[in-house]
Amino acid sequence: MSKQIWFLTGSQGLYGEDVLVQVRDQSAQISGALAASEAIPAEVVARPVLTDSSAIRRVMLDANADDDCVGVIAWMHTFSPAKMWIAGMDALDKPFLHLHTQVNVELPWATIDMDFMNLNQAAHGDREFAFIATRLGVPRKTVSGHVSDPRVVARIGVWARAALARAELRTLKLVRFGDNMRNVAVTEGDKVEAERRFGVSVNTWGVNDLVEVVDQVADSEIDALVEQYLDLYDVADELRPGADRHESLRYGARIEAALRRFVVDGGFGAFTTNFEDLGGLRQLPGLGVQRLMAEGIGFAGEGDWKTAVLGRTLKTMAAGLPGGTSFMEDYTYDLTPGQELSLGAHMLEVCPTIAAGKPRIEVHPLGIGGREDPVRMVFDAAPGDGVTLGLCDLGDRFRMVANEIEVVAAPHPMPKLPVARAVWKAQPDFTTATECWLSAGGPHHTVLSTALTAEHLTDLAEMLGTELVLIGKGTTTDQFLKELRWNNAYHRLAMGF
Ligand code: MN
Repeated sequence: MSKQIWFLTGSQGLYGEDVLVQVRDQSAQISGALAASEAIPAEVVARPVLTDSSAIRRVMLDANADDDCVGVIAWMHTFSPAKMWIAGMDALDKPFLHLHTQVNVELPWATIDMDFMNLNQAAHGDREFAFIATRLGVPRKTVSGHVSDPRVVARIGVWARAALARAELRTLKLVRFGDNMRNVAVTEGDKVEAERRFGVSVNTWGVNDLVEVVDQVADSEIDALVEQYLDLYDVADELRPGADRHESLRYGARIEAALRRFVVDGGFGAFTTNFEDLGGLRQLPGLGVQRLMAEGIGFAGEGDWKTAVLGRTLKTMAAGLPGGTSFMEDYTYDLTPGQELSLGAHMLEVCPTIAAGKPRIEVHPLGIGGREDPVRMVFDAAPGDGVTLGLCDLGDRFRMVANEIEVVAAPHPMPKLPVARAVWKAQPDFTTATECWLSAGGPHHTVLSTALTAEHLTDLAEMLGTELVLIGKGTTTDQFLKELRWNNAYHRLAMGF
């Protein structure tokens, strides 16, 4: 069953049955335009026109109870006295969008009369409705404009993607193989609060539970994966069948098959590993992790469950969009004045959805972990505008920190760097971006996406009731530092006692 967004139209009985019939027909035009749009990746379902408080409360309760309904859009076609919306809006527990629109684009200047005025009065009715939504403190996105304007539908589409991601997060299960890296602070967090706020259930399994599955993988499964590798990627000569190190590739395939069985078949949407805790694994999982990420699974290293949760969430939000989404780590910089660049990568685990070309499978030693050389895909990230997003736990709340970036082609080849990597320019500039990120306590692990924009992240944060500080084109350090201070006050007050 595909996910739905319910479209609600507000009116009242005062106008008589003839007008309500027109309202219904015109509402169908608006919801029909949304339903037909490819920008909205969910089914838009029109509900009957609402004219009284009990029907409004009922439809909101039904929306809450329906797992297929990921969000609700409302539009006041005429005037809908807003006291009738109090009980319903107060009960609503799904993402909400207020669409401020009307049926006609141009006014019929030559023929306009009071009947037209009374029928087409969203300018008036939506103000009455928005007042009560504000009075009740209903979190929402407001979108204004005609539905024939692609920018309007695109913004609704962005919100719909965030709503789909929020729905995914409500029931997400994450498996951690081992705990987080010893002594690391930013990867810690309150898993109980995460389940309360986001819905995700985070639990640990011993890495040897995975090793048992690794040991059960049949040779035929490994053969099939190796065939896929040879077909899809540029496989290093030494790893090819019959070559010296083919066994390393086969062991990488064995880990991949086991991960897919444990994680995907086990109903988990995200997982973490930890190089300090590899149990009976002969290689740190690299290639298999990269392949699962490309299939939409969230991942982060060193037991960092918060970033793995973001990975799954952002991959859900980005499904079907051009560009890619990957686990990322800020590693090192080129500090040439005025041309500063960030070089991001990880030990092995960067998702090939961000790759510029055909990834190459290679095997190299790994300085940490103390195991056999792991196989991994190596590539450069494709240029494009994007975002990075990190999640930290400040003790009293979660904070998301985001940066608008531009992934660029590396200015020079990096023939000795044996991992997949991305090179980017941070917005608005290196100094502002890094000073703001550090001041916000943003983590070194992020999710990088060239499929998503700041608007996707803003809509998601609003739905999750979670602080988001965004570093982007208009950001100044002074203003950002004030925002952090104000946010501390706001979020502590908003939490109550
Ligand atoms: Mn790391």
